[in-house]
Formats: sequence, C-alpha cells, structure tokens
Amino acid sequence: MSYTNLSKMNFDVTDEQKNFLDNVDKACKSIRAHETQCYLEEKSNDMLVPEFGKIGMLGCPISKKYGGLGYDILTYAFALERIGREGNAIRTFFSVHVSIGQMVLQNWADEEQKKRYLPQTTSGKSIMAFALTEPDAGSDPGSMTTKFEEQGDNFILNGKKHWVGNGTFAKVMTTYARGPDGRISAFIVDTDSKGFHAEEMKNKMGLLSIKNAEITFQNCVVPKKNLLGTKGKGLSIAYSALIDGRLSVAAGAIGVMKDCLDESITHSQKRQQHGSALAKKQLIQEHLSSMILNIESSRWLVYRTAVARQKLHDYVETLKEKDTNWQEKLNREDKEYSMLRGKADRLAAIAKLHSTNAAFDCANRAVQIFGSFGYQKTSRVARHFLDSRAIMIYEGANEVLKLKLASLELGDKYQAY
Ligand SMILES: Cc1cc2nc3c(=O)[nH]c(=O)nc-3n(C[C@H](O)[C@H](O)[C@H](O)COP(=O)(O)OP(=O)(O)OC[C@H]3O[C@@H](n4cnc5c(N)ncnc54)[C@H](O)[C@@H]3O)c2cc1C
Repeated sequence: MSYTNLSKMNFDVTDEQKNFLDNVDKACKSIRAHETQCYLEEKSNDMLVPEFGKIGMLGCPISKKYGGLGYDILTYAFALERIGREGNAIRTFFSVHVSIGQMVLQNWADEEQKKRYLPQTTSGKSIMAFALTEPDAGSDPGSMTTKFEEQGDNFILNGKKHWVGNGTFAKVMTTYARGPDGRISAFIVDTDSKGFHAEEMKNKMGLLSIKNAEITFQNCVVPKKNLLGTKGKGLSIAYSALIDGRLSVAAGAIGVMKDCLDESITHSQKRQQHGSALAKKQLIQEHLSSMILNIESSRWLVYRTAVARQKLHDYVETLKEKDTNWQEKLNREDKEYSMLRGKADRLAAIAKLHSTNAAFDCANRAVQIFGSFGYQKTSRVARHFLDSRAIMIYEGANEVLKLKLASLELGDKYQAY
C-alpha cells in the first residue's frame, strides 16, 4: 500500500491507515499497565509480541509477500510515534526488530534469504536484532575487529559485539565482520549457531524493559548462503540500516514528547500552588509552549524524512523487479540511487538529532513541572527522562550526527571524522 498524498505534503490518513493506527492505539493502551510493571521489575514486556502481532505491527512496512502489512514508511512512522508515547523502551523493541532488523533483510537479502527469514519474523515466531557495535568500535564501526574467514561452505566469525537490543532472545540477527582482505561484510546469523553466545547486559540507567546483550562469536559457524548483500559491502549495508533506525528513533521521540506534554498539562491543571493551578503560571506555560514547539518541529522533520525514505525504497524495489543484477548496479554508484539515499540519510540524521535532543528537553521540563512527584521511578515522566538519555547516544551519537551534517555541507576536504 502506498501513501497517496505525499506530493501535496498532506499527511491526512486514509480510512485503512486510520483503522490500523486505531489498532496500534488500542494495543498501546492494552499493554500500558503491564509495561509499567515490567519496567519497574526490569523484565522484558512479554505482551508486546502477542498484542502487536495480532494487528500486524511486527511486520508493518514489510511486503505482504513475506507476511507483513506492506505499509509505506510514513504510516509506519505514524505507528512508531504512537508507540513512543508508551516509552522509548517499547519503541526500541520495534526499531530493532523491524527497522534495523527486518528492513535490512527486505532491502538487501536475496529472494531465498527473504523467504527463509522474513515470514517467521513478521509472524513473531522469531525476533530480530542488529549487532554492529563493539567495545572498541562504537561511533567508528569502520574500526571493528570482529573477523571472518572462509572454511568450506561456511564463514567462521570471531569477535565481540555489545549493546545488541533484543539480543538476549532474538533468533536471528545481522552482524558485520572484517575479512582477510580488510573489507567488512554483512551476515545473517541464526542465534542457535555453533560458537554463538549472548549474555544480558545489566546495570542500565533506563530502557529497563528492553534487553541488551553482549554477543561473543567464538569460531561461530555461519553458512555461506547467509552472506548478506555483496562481499565487502557490509559497512554500506550497516549505514543504510541506520537511516531506518534513526527515522524510527525520531518518530518514537515525537510520541515521548506528546506524552510528556499530556502528562504535564494534566498535572499542572490539577496541582495548586500559591493560590492557583500551576497551569496558570507563566513560567510553567513557557515549559509547555517549548514542548509544543519541539513536537511540531520534530513532526515535520520526521514526516519529510519518511517521504524521502519511501522514494528511495520505491526506486530500489523497481530496480529489483527490472534487473537481477541490482546489487551490482547499486554498488557501482548508480546516480539516482546515490542521490535518493544521500537525501534520506541526511534528513534522517537531522530528524534524529533534533527529535532526540527535543525529547530529552521535553522530559526534563516535564520532570520539573511535576516537581518531587516527577522524581519518582513510578512517574511516567521520570521514565521518559531516563530513557531519552539513551536516544541521544544510540543510532549515531548526536555529536557524530552534527559532524556528519556539517561535513556534508562543507565537502570532502573538511571531513571531521
Ligand atoms: C541503550 C543502547 C542500545 C543500543 N543498541 C544497539 C544495538 O541494538 N545494536 C548495536 O550495534 N549497537 C547498539 N548500541 C550501541 C550504540 O550504537 C553506541 O553506543 C553508539 O554508536 C556510540 O558508541 P559508543 O558508546 O562506543 O561511544 P563512543 O563512540 O566512544 O563515543 C563517546 C562520545 O564521544 C563522541 N564522539 C565520538 N566520535 C567523535 C568525534 N569524531 N568527534 C566528536 N565527538 C565524538 C560521541 O558522540 C559520544 O558522545 C546501543 C547503545 C545503547 C546505549
């Protein structure tokens, strides 16, 4: 299904989209109380897969051919915006499973790989993860030390990844390793493979209902048919995944801000100090108006990015239908592809940078409006505050995104990193 009003920059939804988004809203409401409990007890929310699976959210932008809903990327972003109101933790689950999980396969896998992996992930039987970051290679994944070598029909992987979201229970993940020629390739890894080990990372500041893992590949056996894309093009695949990851984080951040605003309005109208409601005080209204500005400015950036990303998707899908050698064509710097990818990449960086800073600012203001009531672990705004700290770090730390934007504008001679 495609979004019909893009050219007019009209973001009204059709009846079918509205129906889907109403279902997302209902699913969000149905898991809210359980999410609070899971968060406080630091457990994964076991209602996510069944409740969101029922409405197709586990494969929202994935083609119907592989069991998804086949929705366009803007509709998916609207859904993430709604999910974001329930917190960054829940939204992170979807970003990892769908945006940097399934979408990486939808974009880069061959037909056999897509048939083998996507249906089980859209049905929720198998959850996905994305393992790029290493203890010594965070903002600079090009310096990764995880290695692969070829042995008969297999690749053998050795190395460590960390902070892998959904990594404790994912059945399949993409990962990235350096070959003997120094080039990085991408792989699809079944987590029951020999030599694969995952261990939960504890002691997190926030995002307490989502689990992250440290992954060790110790002579891990990956069949050659699980090479993702072209050998040596792994970093390009990872960076393309980050476009989708950043867009999803930015979309979810809007929901976080909306929840902070709603909570702050309710509290400030109810709470009386110095003879009248907090909502009547000018300094409190300044907090509220800043939140509104943050929400609306982020919305336009996110929706614009989703439109640009959809155009890139449509171009590549048309190419795939026409040309069996499509990967080669893209690798050879197809001009239209480079232009569309560059645009989506830049906009996603802007949307992520702005929306995540904005979400942290909103959460901070919301905690302030709540005063001591906001400084309790059980308050929604306290959770948004803790969780929004992470989104300024992952999917490209915000400093790195700033450098990316300035360097792009200045040109190659002025690359800051
Ligand atoms: C909650 C959470 C979930 C995550 N989930 C995943 C996941 O699912 N999969 C995955 O692969 N990874 C994941 N990550 C890892 C995340 O992508 C990295 O943390 C992030 O890329 C930053 O890397 P780093 O932590 O090593 O920090 P570093 O790269 O060491 O950076 C530290 C600081 O230095 C700044 N910095 C770095 N380089 C420069 C420079 N050139 N100039 C100026 N400043 C610079 C950064 O902006 C940052 O502020 C997750 C991380 C967190 C916290």
